[in-house]
Amino acid sequence: MTALATETGAINLGQGFPDSDGPQSLLDAACAAIRAGVNQYPPGPGAPELRAAIAEDRAARFGIRYDPDTEVLVTVGVTEAISAAVLGLLDPGDEVVLVEPYYDSYAAAVAMAGARRRTVPMIPTDDGFALDVAALREAVTDETRMLVVNTPHNPTGAVYSAAELAAIAEIAVRHDVIVVSDEVYEHLVFDGRAHTPIATLPGMAERTVTVSSAGKTFNVTGWKTGWACGPADLLAGVRAAKQFMSFTAGAPFQPAVAHALRTEQPWIAGLRDDLERKRDFLRDALTEAGFRVHSGGGTYFLCADIRPLGASDGIEFCRELPKRAGVVAVPVSVFTDHPVDWSHLVRFAFCKHDDVLAEAAHRLVAAG
Ligand code: PMP
Ligand code: GLN
Repeated sequence: MTALATETGAINLGQGFPDSDGPQSLLDAACAAIRAGVNQYPPGPGAPELRAAIAEDRAARFGIRYDPDTEVLVTVGVTEAISAAVLGLLDPGDEVVLVEPYYDSYAAAVAMAGARRRTVPMIPTDDGFALDVAALREAVTDETRMLVVNTPHNPTGAVYSAAELAAIAEIAVRHDVIVVSDEVYEHLVFDGRAHTPIATLPGMAERTVTVSSAGKTFNVTGWKTGWACGPADLLAGVRAAKQFMSFTAGAPFQPAVAHALRTEQPWIAGLRDDLERKRDFLRDALTEAGFRVHSGGGTYFLCADIRPLGASDGIEFCRELPKRAGVVAVPVSVFTDHPVDWSHLVRFAFCKHDDVLAEAAHRLVAAG
């Protein structure tokens, strides 16, 4: 879809990446690191100062204590953290439960591990989406080895409630399941709500690998600097796989991200407020353009139902939209195992400059 946007000159509200840079001190710190010669392989598990900063950050915000030496691993983004967790902790044939729609790399990682996946759906609510807890209860059995959860959730924007998290935790503990918790949008939670890592729930710290990255927190998606945190026994498996996927991650980004985690929390709060305002703007514009909008409580994304516009096939709709309206969106069905059930939904990203969103809104309203 990004290639289609480039080809047609359409406004790209498809792929989720911001069109502005991260905090200046972060950019300066990476440039300073390069000039200071931080350009060779860092330690495989990550630069000690970044591992320490990640552990401090999670302790300060959530009261979770990780040993930076054995319980924190720096990865090439969340994508590698997830693949390393799946490849390092599962054997061929093991069963993994995913919540659908799911970020596309999960299913690919499960396939590369030779594991089997089952999916549990999100269900539409009045204004957003919620986890189908009854379906989760049915899908997770003593056969299940791993459950992958993602809150705030791409592509729906949903933020799991305390009740949803408690249900996931109860089910995971009952069936002794490893949970991989993708918290890449952990700071992008709106409407006065707060992010709760599932590792803070009773019985979860010892079974949860939490993954996140600097990309969405500091507007540096191209740096691919992420991390996995979890108990030492599980992290040993993730680390063993990561060693032979990439061995290590980009050297000069690591001290820069460590610096930003320690000093740029106010910048992150500003980013969140800005994105909340952009979410509201795009929600209203899409509603005016005739979509039925599912307004998520977090992330970069909104899902919109195309049926009120007389369309039903999201893939066809997204192929036509650049020509018809000069805007690119992503069909939600590409994030699922059941494309027919999700074909009426398309995803729009709002992590763009105000004037870009305003022009996209103008075009969508004009196209009807
Ligand atoms: N998980 C989710 C839910 C995402 O939306 C993304 C980014 N699009 C990723 C993982 C990948 O993150 P990274 O760029 O840090 O690999
Ligand atoms: N997370 C972003 C998205 O879902 C971008 C990641 C990607 O393009 N692979 O659009």
